[in-house]
Amino acid sequence: MQLTDAYDPQNIFAKILRDEMPSIRVFEDETTLAFMDIMPQAPGHVLVIPRVAATNVLTLSADDARAVMTTTHLLAPAVQKAMEAPGLMLAQLNGAAAGQTVPHFHMHIIPRHKGLEMLGHGTEVADMNELADIAARIRAAI
Ligand code: AMP
Repeated sequence: MQLTDAYDPQNIFAKILRDEMPSIRVFEDETTLAFMDIMPQAPGHVLVIPRVAATNVLTLSADDARAVMTTTHLLAPAVQKAMEAPGLMLAQLNGAAAGQTVPHFHMHIIPRHKGLEMLGHGTEVADMNELADIAARIRAAI
């Protein structure tokens, strides 16, 4: 995946946006969608994506960048509260060389606890009931 690749409308997040793939949603508005990462690097790992077809930061408009950050900014305290996290990591990868694996722009919100190492990137699929419980706690904290 190169930074200059054309947008692939069959990528997994595009399918989630079109409801062709299931997701555990925590928030959505006109321009963004937030859902649980199915291979969380820590419990409470949430992804925020724009609805527009943008592969990475180079193809995302400033308006959509603002929209993603606004949703991230709304959800960060909810994730923090729901997970009782003393730390929060925001991360966003562009291009395979940076570790991006899904070619639709996304922001990671990852709760961090001192001494609790993050799991590897996209390694272990979480229990869906557990993810649904966590999502309900996050939604309740918005
Ligand atoms: P990145 O490597 O930055 O592109 O992040 C992609 C993220 O998407 C990883 O953290 C994966 O665990 C996550 N992921 C992949 N497939 C799905 C899916 N179907 N639903 C939710 N998260 C996913």
